[in-house]
Amino acid sequence: MSHRIAVIAGDGIGTEVIPEGLRALKAVAERFDIALEFQTFDFGSCDYYLEHGKMLPDDWFEQLKDFDALFYGAVGWPEKVPDHISLWGSLLQFRRRFDQYINLRPCKLMPGIKGPLAGRKPGDIDFYVVRENTEGEYSSVGGKMFEGTEREVVIQDTIMTRTGVDRVLKYAFELAATRPRKKLTSATKSNGISITMPYWDERVEAMAAGYPEIAVDKFHIDILTANFVLHPDWFDVVVGSNLFGDILSDLGPACTGTIGIAPSANINPEGNFPSLFEPVHGSAPDIAGKGIANPIGQIWSGAMMLEHLGHQEAADTLVKAIEAVLESGDAQLLTPDIGGKGTTQSLGRAIAEHITA
Ligand code: ATP
Ligand code: MG
Repeated sequence: MSHRIAVIAGDGIGTEVIPEGLRALKAVAERFDIALEFQTFDFGSCDYYLEHGKMLPDDWFEQLKDFDALFYGAVGWPEKVPDHISLWGSLLQFRRRFDQYINLRPCKLMPGIKGPLAGRKPGDIDFYVVRENTEGEYSSVGGKMFEGTEREVVIQDTIMTRTGVDRVLKYAFELAATRPRKKLTSATKSNGISITMPYWDERVEAMAAGYPEIAVDKFHIDILTANFVLHPDWFDVVVGSNLFGDILSDLGPACTGTIGIAPSANINPEGNFPSLFEPVHGSAPDIAGKGIANPIGQIWSGAMMLEHLGHQEAADTLVKAIEAVLESGDAQLLTPDIGGKGTTQSLGRAIAEHITA
C-alpha cells in the first residue's frame, strides 16, 4: 500500500528545504521498500495569495482530506502579506479543519550542536513536548466593555472540555509508555489559575490511574520553564495546555541549539484526517534565496511523518543519518548556522547519501 503525501513548500526557505526533505524521504523509502507518493501543491504560499487573493483555493479541504499526511515547508512573508493573513489562511486552517489536536515537538540535543546550555551533551536532553492544539487559552470567547472609557474591561475566556483535555493527555501517556524512562510531566498553574488548571490537574490524575507504570509529576509553568534550562535531563514527555504548550514547545527546542534543526508535527492521532509535518522555523526571509538554510528541521519532520505512518525503523534510520552527518563535523557539508561552510544542498545530500550507503 502506498502512502499519499501532499507537499506544500510555502514561502522563503520553505521552498529550499522541502526538496532536501523529499530527497531524504525518497532515499529512506527506497532502502526500506516503502511506497511514498508525493503530490505538490502551490497554494498555502504568499505568492499564491498575491495571485488569487486567498491563501488556499475554496476546495482545499476536498483536495487534501484523503492524503495520508501533509509535508509542509514554511509559510509567511510579512513584506508581501501580513502574518495574520498568511498563517490564519493556511496552517491554522489545516490544524482546525483536520482536527490536529496534538502539537508534538522533540527536544533532543544532537551531536556536534553547541546548544545554549553549558556542559550539556547529547543524551542529556531528549524529551518531547506535547501541546494541546485546539482549545484552552486560545479561545475567541470574551469581549470588551466600556471601551474607550476609564472603566474599560477586557475579558477572554479559557475553554477546557473534558474531551479536549482527556484526548491530549491520553496521547501524552501513550507516548510516555513507549519510552524507556516512562515519565510524564504535566505543566500547570493551579496555584494561580483557580478553575481551569485545577481541572487540568484532576484529569491528569484520573488518566494516570490507567497508567500505573508511568511516573507522573507536575510543575507550575513558571518553575517548569526554569527547570527546562536548569535540569533538562529531568524530562521525558511534557504535556501542556495550548498556551503553556506553546511556550514550552518554543523553549524546549531553543534549549537544544539552532532553530534550523527542530522538527514538529500537528497530529490527528485517529487518522480521520491527515496530520501535518513541518520544521519549527519559519520562512526566514533574511536568508531566503542564499541556499544556506539548514534542511535538518525539514528532514527530521519527515522522520516524524514516517513514524506516524507506522515506519519506525525507517524513521530511526533517518534520525541516525542526521546524527551521523552532524557528528562528522565536516564543515564543507554543514550549513553556516551550525558552524559550517556548506549549503542547504550539501547538507541534504550528505544525509541522503548516508542513508543509501
Ligand atoms: P516565523 O514568523 O514563522 O517565526 P520567521 O521567518 O520570522 O518565521 P524564523 O524562520 O523562525 O522566523 O527564523 C528566525 C531566524 O532564524 C531567521 O531570521 C534565520 O536567520 C534563522 N533561521 C531560521 N530557520 C533557519 C534554517 N533552517 N537555517 C538557518 N537559519 C535559520
Ligand atoms: Mg518569527
